[in-house]
Amino acid sequence: MKAVRYDTFEGPLRLVEVPDPKPSRDGVVVQVGASGLCRSDWHGWMGHDADVRVPHVPGHEFAGTVIETGGDVRKWKKGDRITVPFSMGCGSCERCRAGDEQICDRYYQPGFTGWGTFAEYVALPYADVNLVRLPDSMTFTTAALLGCRFATAYRAVVGQGRTRPGEWVAVHGCGGVGLSATMIARALHARVIGVDIAAEKLELARSCGAEIVIDALEGPDVAGAIRELTGGGAHVSIDALGSPATCRNSILSLRKRGRHIQVGLLLADQSDPPVPMSQVVARELEIRGTHGLQARQYAGLLDLITNGQLHPEKLLGKTISLPQVGPELAGMGSFPGVGVTVAVLD
Ligand SMILES: [Zn+2]
Ligand SMILES: [Zn+2]
Repeated sequence: MKAVRYDTFEGPLRLVEVPDPKPSRDGVVVQVGASGLCRSDWHGWMGHDADVRVPHVPGHEFAGTVIETGGDVRKWKKGDRITVPFSMGCGSCERCRAGDEQICDRYYQPGFTGWGTFAEYVALPYADVNLVRLPDSMTFTTAALLGCRFATAYRAVVGQGRTRPGEWVAVHGCGGVGLSATMIARALHARVIGVDIAAEKLELARSCGAEIVIDALEGPDVAGAIRELTGGGAHVSIDALGSPATCRNSILSLRKRGRHIQVGLLLADQSDPPVPMSQVVARELEIRGTHGLQARQYAGLLDLITNGQLHPEKLLGKTISLPQVGPELAGMGSFPGVGVTVAVLD
């Protein structure tokens, strides 16, 4: 099969011929229909992710068709149209038995711990625990957009954030995951404030349902502005970018007993940012991380989409072909553009 592979970190991303994958006993092989490009893929290529071993095939936000199943797979067969959470649970460790497959002790992440989806085919283990059936009406491109951004945003807003109708949700960083969170919060009838430093992203945030947008470059005190606009602070605040500044702003923009949800990855030299803990104590704030979404929780997300309440396709920037993935991915180091790029395979 053809796959986009790099042999050294920051090295060339080449489209090469590699052997077709075989399914493990509990796994499947999926023909990739579409696979979204994500900044996490770029971080992996840069060598920021300890899970990635070279040579490596990146790609983790995808959808496709099962073409082969291992002997122990019971729930899936050839021809099934599926996606999977970006972090797949083993189904048998302590975390998985508690229903938290998204933080499995033996997690498998295609495109990180194993070869990913910028390829014609991908092998996935733990199929019965992790595969998610796609509605017939959903295209692979739309399903690829759910990838990590929408699924992660859904868990941030619904699961970890426990967002209720009428509450204020501040979204710091209006890239893919921030816009996803904005749309999901709106679908739940919450009120959204979007914060970014790029006018085009703030415009998109508005079109995704943000009632108020704030250009963080225009004033020195984003958090103070949010507290004022919301009469005390947001009920839920999401750092969707992942930086010491947005993490701090997010926590400080909360009202008392508010919930900060850390979604954006803090990597390399930013992995240990200062946290205004005195305010966490004084205002009884909650700080929670979020790391993906269990397969069984996709039902609520897919319902919002098939009911027409959520439109992930709004996030689509452009589609490209597999040979274009390498150059596109290498260029993601400059600040990511507007909209998600999805590689569509024939
Ligand atoms: Zn597990
Ligand atoms: Zn991703």
